[in-house]
Amino acid sequence: MHEVIPKEVMYVGSELARAGFAAYAVGGCVRDVLLGREPNDWDVATNAKPEEVQAVFPKSFYENKFGTVTAFIDGMEIQITTYRVDNAYSDKRHPDSVQYTTHLQEDLARRDFTINAMALDLETQNLKPETQDSRSMIQDASSKIQDLRFTIIDPFGGQKDLKEKIVRAVGNASERFNEDALRLVRAVRFATQLEFTIEEQTLVAVKEHAALIRVVSHERIRDELIKIVMCKNAADGIDLLRQVGLLHFVLPELLDGYHVSQNKHHIFDVYEHNLKSLRYAAEQGFSFTVRFAALLHDVGKPKAKQGEGPNATFYNHDMIGARIAAQAMSRLKFSNKEIEDVARLIRYHLFYYNVDEVTASSVRRLVRNVGLENMDDLVNVRFADRIGSGVPKAEPYKLRHFRYMVEKVSKDPISVKMLKIDGNEVMRILGIAPGPKVGVILNALFSEVLDDPQKNDKDYLEARAVVLDKFSISELSEMIKKGEEKVKLLEEEEQRKFRV
Ligand code: ATP
Ligand code: MG
Repeated sequence: MHEVIPKEVMYVGSELARAGFAAYAVGGCVRDVLLGREPNDWDVATNAKPEEVQAVFPKSFYENKFGTVTAFIDGMEIQITTYRVDNAYSDKRHPDSVQYTTHLQEDLARRDFTINAMALDLETQNLKPETQDSRSMIQDASSKIQDLRFTIIDPFGGQKDLKEKIVRAVGNASERFNEDALRLVRAVRFATQLEFTIEEQTLVAVKEHAALIRVVSHERIRDELIKIVMCKNAADGIDLLRQVGLLHFVLPELLDGYHVSQNKHHIFDVYEHNLKSLRYAAEQGFSFTVRFAALLHDVGKPKAKQGEGPNATFYNHDMIGARIAAQAMSRLKFSNKEIEDVARLIRYHLFYYNVDEVTASSVRRLVRNVGLENMDDLVNVRFADRIGSGVPKAEPYKLRHFRYMVEKVSKDPISVKMLKIDGNEVMRILGIAPGPKVGVILNALFSEVLDDPQKNDKDYLEARAVVLDKFSISELSEMIKKGEEKVKLLEEEEQRKFRV
């Protein structure tokens, strides 16, 4: 185990011991070490008060929050928290006050699940004698830890639950969820992440108290949701949220597609299809953005649905879905960049890529809308969509060809800024003052260049600007719109023909 506990953490333990205090690694890091997983972060619990901890580690800061001092050891951040008990939680989110205690066991008792309520004595690396009282030695841990005997403090049977793959609340489950309702989603998160099952009583309590999640801040829920989505079996996690009644509060947009049938091209309903797309994206190890876009890519379908049965249609579900996803993400307090990235992938997920029909012009317009740097993500969402609809393959040949087309057009002008003429030149040539006409002429020129990059030639553009000047703003806008409509028609064609 010595090798799996970072030397910085061992150092914290020995320095606290030297100053006469106890020091234990606690919570998630103990769980992960016992499972042979790499801990996300290391937390240390001690009977030293925050001022005393700070005296031992001058390079640290204390925000005066719940007794946690953050120490910086060789650039590594370690949270050192004084043993504490939480007093009443009248808002079901935060303890009304925290109180220090000198008993480690009391500190462990305030933790959410048995597997998270263990401590590992950082002072016992030098082979202490066998078990004493409530202390038990690690009997069967991974190979790395067999030889060195660390004392694990495990008052609630965390090791047994780890072995049996069970998420069980510490103490009375109902009371624990009432204290802090985020634990409801955390139960699902740990069950998903560790591939454990939620113990019977705990599960009953999660279902019973699901609605309490409403009082928890969206940021805290979002952080747990991200962890669920980043699991390999993310789709099982989302479905577990549904089964226990939490999805209704966390992402109700997905539930709108539950049992909403599609059409003759689909074997799954909208909800199942979204989930299966996420399943594939997660199995492939795609980024959060791609996974979330895959999960939400068809959330617009329930609203867009027209007709019933084998010939139902879903026109514009791409645009509607992008809007719904953006609203959901903004409620969950995702950043604008995260929202835009996901919404964009949903908006353009219907892109047309049939080998003989797709034109360089439509690929250029797509690249302009999506951004060259996001094209791989878009293709991956499409892969997820295809696989998630239960088709045998994701048409790798067609998508490969599409990628080749993207590569081919990647050096063509794809923004107005790349035109070999700018607003000042347009004003000079036409002798007009700044105003909307300048922008419209530039955009009309750009639309032509998107269709044919050869036209990005200074002489041509200057001459063409003179011609375009004869048209009114609304006529020019109409020309620009025509170019865009070609692409929209192709997207509709894609939906008609290719079952997306
Ligand atoms: P991760 O691998 O995501 O870091 P973790 O179990 O370490 O998982 P953290 O959120 O880092 O979870 O919290 C560290 C520890 O603090 C937990 O293992 C648990 O003992 C305790 N804890 C965290 N959140 C709660 C909570 N809401 N209620 C009770 N105990 C909690
Ligand atoms: Mg942690």
